[in-house]
Amino acid sequence: MGQGECLLCGAVAVLQDSHVLPAFVFRALKEHSATGHIRSSESPNRRVQDGVTQPWLCVGCESSFSRWERDFSNNILRPWRDGVVETAYDDWLLKFCVSVSWRVLKYCKGRNESASYTDTQEKLFVDAERVWREFLLGLRSHPGEFCQQFLISDLIDETTISDLPSNINRFLMGAVSMDIVGSERSAFTWAKMGRFQIFGVVQPGRDKFEGTKVHVKHGVLRPGRFVVPAGLLDLYKEKSAHISEAMAGMSDVQFAKVDAALRSNLERASDSGQLAAMRADAALFGEGVLLRRKRRTDSTE
Ligand SMILES: [Zn+2]
Repeated sequence: MGQGECLLCGAVAVLQDSHVLPAFVFRALKEHSATGHIRSSESPNRRVQDGVTQPWLCVGCESSFSRWERDFSNNILRPWRDGVVETAYDDWLLKFCVSVSWRVLKYCKGRNESASYTDTQEKLFVDAERVWREFLLGLRSHPGEFCQQFLISDLIDETTISDLPSNINRFLMGAVSMDIVGSERSAFTWAKMGRFQIFGVVQPGRDKFEGTKVHVKHGVLRPGRFVVPAGLLDLYKEKSAHISEAMAGMSDVQFAKVDAALRSNLERASDSGQLAAMRADAALFGEGVLLRRKRRTDSTE
């Protein structure tokens, strides 16, 4: 840990190694995965013990983030995991969501060299970063147009969409990802932490979210009908296909280890969320989707 300027409050201080995505996400997934370990979906041969960290924040700012993460963990993550599907929240939820979106923006913006943005979007990214930072520091009472959309996934047991990816339940319930997503007319930060997703609105676009906005003071989360932009389905398809390809490319040695760990701990596996998601995918698409595609050898056919 070195001395530097805190990215949030600007104070010169000893900077803490802060998680870009909250550490509890990785702890909870580990507790809940069938093998007790989680793997990075980008590179499934490597176990992810913890997420990526950056030396960004002073002790004071880091402890604010930790407090909002603890509130989220105690009041939403655990109850939903334990089957409670109606939970109330206070002002900490918006703080938590903005803190995640702000970190995703800081981490992801500029990291993908193939991504390009319009001049309007570049300006909006700067504005959103400032507004979110000021909100986190208590300098403004709400993030205004740069609002937060929060989604909790559940298992899909039937669908009218014909071309859903066959790992859609495992993707929606389990995958961890972050990115900046959108089009020429829309831009969002996106944090996917297992079944919980936060979209930080930078440029809203034409298709709107309905019923998913995080309120400033308080609200209730419960199952219901929500409207999300149509483009999200394409995002999910792209990301889940990427995971399928990565899994198919997993080395035989690594695959054998996962398989052995699963077999040696059947009790844990039987009530894990991961197994429920696998069963739901099998119910939707048939048992075949759970089988790993045989890797092609280089021999001629
Ligand atoms: Zn600070």
